[in-house]
Amino acid sequence: MSTSTTPLAATDAAVSLTGKDLHLAFGDNKVLQGVDIQVDAGTTTTVIGPSGSGKSTLLRVLNRLHEPQQGDILIDGRSVLGDNPDELRRRIGMVFQQFNLFPHKTVAQNVALAPQKLRGLSKDEAYALALEQLDAVGLKHKADVRPSTLSGGQQQRVAIARALAMRPQIMFFDEATSALDPELVKGVLSLMAELSKEGMTMVVVTHEMGYARDVSDNVLFMDEGKVVETGTPEKLFNAAESERLQTFLSQVL
Ligand code: ADP
Ligand code: MG
Repeated sequence: MSTSTTPLAATDAAVSLTGKDLHLAFGDNKVLQGVDIQVDAGTTTTVIGPSGSGKSTLLRVLNRLHEPQQGDILIDGRSVLGDNPDELRRRIGMVFQQFNLFPHKTVAQNVALAPQKLRGLSKDEAYALALEQLDAVGLKHKADVRPSTLSGGQQQRVAIARALAMRPQIMFFDEATSALDPELVKGVLSLMAELSKEGMTMVVVTHEMGYARDVSDNVLFMDEGKVVETGTPEKLFNAAESERLQTFLSQVL
């Protein structure tokens, strides 16, 4: 829950993200079997599906932590597979279930580190940016404490601030609230909703169906490495066509 009016991100130049016919196998295990995903500029796509269906792998292929064995990845319609993968990863911010903050650094240092190392900001500039970004997630007052003194929800908001401090054009969230105590989930989800509303291009893997229904422009249901159904939240949640999605929803709703 951000209490400040500072924007979370610079979303004025939102980009689109396209994955086309993406394939990836680990040995015999065909984890992605021709996945298509279209995330229009400034929109949020939520990926749902049972455990093991390939959701996390899809995110890792889309930012080329794993190279797709077939298919293409495009930003604003241009293939990025010929570029340096590091360049793509800098354009995409990632927030995981585990926040992985450095325990021996302060909250502000955690946020300032990557901009200093990778964006060439001076120590003072990076610290000022960290304060601004922490202010945007409502945690400026925690800048100089260690992460362990924060709640899980606050730590995840720091992790979001850390990702945003790199000025990403796209944000990925992989079950960002799954490790949180139930009472802390809402603060992180509302921050994600705020970012979505600002017009960030986002791909969100989540089990929070309420969030998926309220915030997504599109929902993608995956099972066994394939997109079984995709469309607006209204369509998927109110008029699921496939039996697999109907069964999945009956289990999670
Ligand atoms: P989800 O996020 O939907 O739960 P994952 O993408 O994590 O699914 O996993 C899909 C499948 O890919 C699983 O069978 C998993 O064991 C396999 N897998 C994921 N990452 C690796 C890896 N690095 N090496 C081998 N197998 C993997
Ligand atoms: Mg996963």
